[in-house]
Amino acid sequence: MSLEALERQVQADLRRLEYPARDWVTEREGPDGKPLCDVLIIGAGQSGLALAAALKRERVHNILLVDRHPEGKAGPWLTFARMITLRTPKYLTGPDLGIPSLTIQSWYEAQHGDGAWEALAYIPKETWAEYLNWYRDMNGLPVRYDTTAGAIARVDTHACFAVPLRTGDQEETIYARRVVMATGIEGSGRWRAPGFIAEALPSTHYAHTRRDIDFDALRGKRVGVLGAGASAFDNASVALEHGAAEVRLCFRRPKLVNVNPYRWAEFVGFLKHVSDLDDAAKWRFILQVLRMGQLPPTDTFARARTHDNFHLHPATPWNSSRMDGDEVVVETPQGELRFDYVIAATGFVTDLSCRPELAHCQQAIKLWADAYQPPAEDAHDDLLRHPYLDDGFGFIDKTGDMPWLSHIYNYTFGCLLSHGFGGASISGMKYSLPKIASGITKSFFVEDQDHYFDSLCAYDVEEF
Ligand SMILES: Cc1cc2nc3c(=O)[nH]c(=O)nc-3n(C[C@H](O)[C@H](O)[C@H](O)COP(=O)(O)OP(=O)(O)OC[C@H]3O[C@@H](n4cnc5c(N)ncnc54)[C@H](O)[C@@H]3O)c2cc1C
Repeated sequence: MSLEALERQVQADLRRLEYPARDWVTEREGPDGKPLCDVLIIGAGQSGLALAAALKRERVHNILLVDRHPEGKAGPWLTFARMITLRTPKYLTGPDLGIPSLTIQSWYEAQHGDGAWEALAYIPKETWAEYLNWYRDMNGLPVRYDTTAGAIARVDTHACFAVPLRTGDQEETIYARRVVMATGIEGSGRWRAPGFIAEALPSTHYAHTRRDIDFDALRGKRVGVLGAGASAFDNASVALEHGAAEVRLCFRRPKLVNVNPYRWAEFVGFLKHVSDLDDAAKWRFILQVLRMGQLPPTDTFARARTHDNFHLHPATPWNSSRMDGDEVVVETPQGELRFDYVIAATGFVTDLSCRPELAHCQQAIKLWADAYQPPAEDAHDDLLRHPYLDDGFGFIDKTGDMPWLSHIYNYTFGCLLSHGFGGASISGMKYSLPKIASGITKSFFVEDQDHYFDSLCAYDVEEF
């Protein structure tokens, strides 16, 4: 099948699955006298796009996505992701919403022919980004790029939110009934380099993996990498491929993790129902997943090890760092290490107070720390900062002053404890998308039930 034929198939499939086709969300007027946007989705990466498509399937059309990246560049894939292929296996589905013609396999085969998919080991990251752009167009999703959403404010007079949108030096306010944070894996916090690096070294001598890095400038340099997840190895490999003199990758654990709990998790029970467990049970499962740790995919590990000047340093945590002339000196339990440049592959922290979008309301958002006290031996500070979300991925107000917080939804990695692999991972999308879409449609029907009851009472279409 050609790509054109596939695209016709997609439209035919969407038409065949239209039932119930009647548009139903009541139109409301905003403070500016214009119709309100029903759902504003902040972030047009895979999560935002797939949720928008899921909402359209439920006849919620009056939606808008915004993304601060330029057209087609949302997410990490074409910016700071330095792997060659996706880390997850190609067979993961999710954004397709169960429609075979919308899957990446169908799209790939339509371009590269039958058998091409079987021949593909892992999906190149550029291919995934291209698929997401095609997916956006196939579903007719309205995205405003180069646009940053600011602090969400409540407008009680119109039961809506006011969200400032900045595009270049232009700012406008959009009024929306529901707002979704599809702001990325770090979307409930921020990327973080440890203080003993960020506060001790000039930005000329270190970078977090999230930052743009001038790898050409690392030619002939001694590079230190802190961390042992996939990004640590990706960045080490890119530095070596650009001619770094050596790379020393240091991590705390006595040996590299080589068992991936995400592969274990690929079954219906966990992906679909971990969110149905009680708090203590959710905590123990998610804590165990985190305790088992992150690992580099096999090919990512192999890529770095092809270089003789790549060195692994297990059980080598960094205690402090300082500059000595133009050298970075790192103190470890085994003594000091000297580098010309260091890369912090230290991930992100969950902390809603870091989110500009939540500046007006984050203090009222219920966190797991407000709802559950783990046994001392199972303490985990970052998990306690995860938002304690409702069944529909909505925030919960812990003060009684902001009941409308349930109309702001979190579809980031921050929903991990409340909903499992929900946002910001392909693994969980198949089951999280229908849940969050249902949370949003439920909120409209419940809020407007009187309107629907009145329309029922007024219904007088005679059948004969
Ligand atoms: C390097 C890397 C590799 C990964 N590889 C995989 C993988 O192989 N398989 C897998 O399953 N998962 C992977 N993940 C995890 C996850 O799938 C990705 O993070 C993915 O990008 C998450 O999709 P998303 O749509 O939730 O977030 P993103 O793709 O990050 O999209 C969020 C978007 O929101 C925008 N945004 C944020 N705040 C605002 C704002 N206030 N206003 C406007 N725009 C805003 C951002 O610019 C971004 O474009 C990887 C993550 C990283 C960082």
